Amino acid sequence: MCVLTGKTALVTGASRGIGRGIAERLGRDGARVAVHYGRNEAAAKETVAAIGAAGGSAFAIGVELGKPGDAELLWEKFDRQADGLDILVNNAGIGTAPPIGEITEEEYERVFAVNVKAPFFLVRQGLSRLRDGGRVINISSGLARTAAMPDKVAYAMTKGALDVFTRDLSKVLGARGITVNSVAPGIVDTDNTAGFLHGTPDGWAQAATISALGRVGAPADMADVVAFLVSDGGRWVTGSWVDATGGSLT
Ligand code: NAP
Repeated sequence: MCVLTGKTALVTGASRGIGRGIAERLGRDGARVAVHYGRNEAAAKETVAAIGAAGGSAFAIGVELGKPGDAELLWEKFDRQADGLDILVNNAGIGTAPPIGEITEEEYERVFAVNVKAPFFLVRQGLSRLRDGGRVINISSGLARTAAMPDKVAYAMTKGALDVFTRDLSKVLGARGITVNSVAPGIVDTDNTAGFLHGTPDGWAQAATISALGRVGAPADMADVVAFLVSDGGRWVTGSWVDATGGSLT
């Protein structure tokens, strides 16, 4: 018996990066994992296979988020393979690079559609599927609490909105014993950050110095935090913003 045996989890954006790390960890902890992906079916299948190889159980669901009807479609596909849910991890997200003087209205709307609207409606449509005593985790960002990268203002604003969603949703769902928390990564080594970390001469070293612990974060660092919050040990933590930046905000 593992700590999540008998539980079903859905992790959005689990084909790669942090989401994959979380999905693999929840699978190892005994949950049956719905591995959501956007476009990269091959990568999602790799995540499913990795969970299976470690003795777990998983299935893939492909739906591009940020489009009208995305939440309904995702739940429709989920319902074909599972009956109810215990853990929802809203991880899928995109960044923005252009500063305020350059960002287009279209790009602004897109980042809000994927990072804020999609998690909101996934929860809204998922309320009837989420069982009492369940868990919701929203993957935020340290940038919601620091102006260290002001050119990413639109992205940071999406995470600020997500954190308000976490806060208020914890009150809405508390009566059902469902906890809701934000987990905020700092700089984590994923495809998202590869350009800076691996594509610039001292990107990795620069990023490492931002953390008090002197290194760049790994998906497993985030997965371990999520694993605690969704376990029984995390039952009294709700409505919180968990700093998982390795001390990058201190
Ligand atoms: P990543 O490596 O780029 O992976 C993103 C994942 O999200 C992929 O599985 C991708 O699926 C999915 N996704 C992206 N846009 C999607 C869309 N429109 N519809 C459906 N799926 C979509 O990203 P990451 O670095 O792991 O980031 C994961 C989360 O952590 C994000 O919310 C991000 O804001 C947050 N975060 C990351 C860092 C960091 O340093 N990496 C720091 C702070 C916060 P497909 O590939 O299948 O399309």
